[in-house]
Amino acid sequence: MAETLLSFAGQDMAIDLGTANTLVYVRGGGIVLDEPSVVAINSQNSKALAVGMEAKRMIGRTPASITAIRPLRDGVIADFDITEKMLRYFIQKVHRRRWARPRIVVCVPSGITPVERRAVEEAAYHAGARRAYTIEEPMAAAIGSGLPIGEPSGSMVVDIGGGTTEVAVISLGGIVVSRSIRVGGDELDTAIIDWIKKEHNVLVGERTAEQLKMAVGSAWPYADEPSAEVRGRDLVTGLPKTILLSSPEIREAIEEPTQAIVDAVKFTLDKTPPELAADIVERGIVLTGGGALLMGLDHRLAHETGMPIVTAAQPLQSVVIGSGKCLEEFDALHNVLASSARP
Ligand code: ADP
Ligand code: MG
Repeated sequence: MAETLLSFAGQDMAIDLGTANTLVYVRGGGIVLDEPSVVAINSQNSKALAVGMEAKRMIGRTPASITAIRPLRDGVIADFDITEKMLRYFIQKVHRRRWARPRIVVCVPSGITPVERRAVEEAAYHAGARRAYTIEEPMAAAIGSGLPIGEPSGSMVVDIGGGTTEVAVISLGGIVVSRSIRVGGDELDTAIIDWIKKEHNVLVGERTAEQLKMAVGSAWPYADEPSAEVRGRDLVTGLPKTILLSSPEIREAIEEPTQAIVDAVKFTLDKTPPELAADIVERGIVLTGGGALLMGLDHRLAHETGMPIVTAAQPLQSVVIGSGKCLEEFDALHNVLASSARP
């Protein structure tokens, strides 16, 4: 890995700064980094102890002196200092040779403020960018999913991330209608925790809830639904306890946030100009982001909207692939990027 990284050093890179995962794409080299957007901080001196995969393993398992932080958790930059530390760490991990100044494209949640956007650019400049650009997530996801964004034709993309769901209709290289809600995969995890607490008097951790969602979670019934055993703490006895949970139970647990995602799609469709809506009927709504992997979400959306639904080929990678394409085809696609000059 180190060798591959070195041979790409100095080259332009695109970064998907997600609420759950950060991915880095190097021009000419594809995706070279894919790690959780988590930083473990020593609360005594505010120093970063671990970033990415290593830090995620610490969630729910830290002593009082260490906190595992997800700085972008709700789709806004909750903690700017830590976001910057994380971004610089990932850039430097890929970009070894300081003298070579790359172009850096950072994909940001569309809900961030101009000040936050500027701050992300500055972090990229600090990390050695020759020029820093930002791109809005739904645009990157659409490009990465192969939608014809430059044509006078409507495309709808639904990107379900960890902290947010972004729905957008794109035509002629611009976002025509969009809606961003602070409901994504995390909210499903929280709903599972709350439901198990309420129904079984057992407390399970965040990571357990996420694993349960991936293994048996669904938004629509399907054949041979599995069950899963989970371990948590019995809230009555205080002792560890194992319980068996079925797919329909987990479906019930996540119903509220699932419906919120469906409603965001319906709301956006309702606001879409009729010509563009007709294009979407033909092409289908493209689902992307890790949340698109929830079993049966495509069926559920098809049922509730009456539209054809297409799940992206690589939901967790569409955004970084789309941002990377902006580097590969810079002349054709730089119009979708925003940038202010080096400070
Ligand atoms: P972000 O762009 O916000 O970083 P991602 O697109 O990386 O988010 O998606 C992360 C979310 O996708 C997490 O909430 C994760 O639990 C969820 N996810 C990943 N795989 C699956 C799966 N197989 N089923 C359901 N949810 C999934
Ligand atoms: Mg994302």
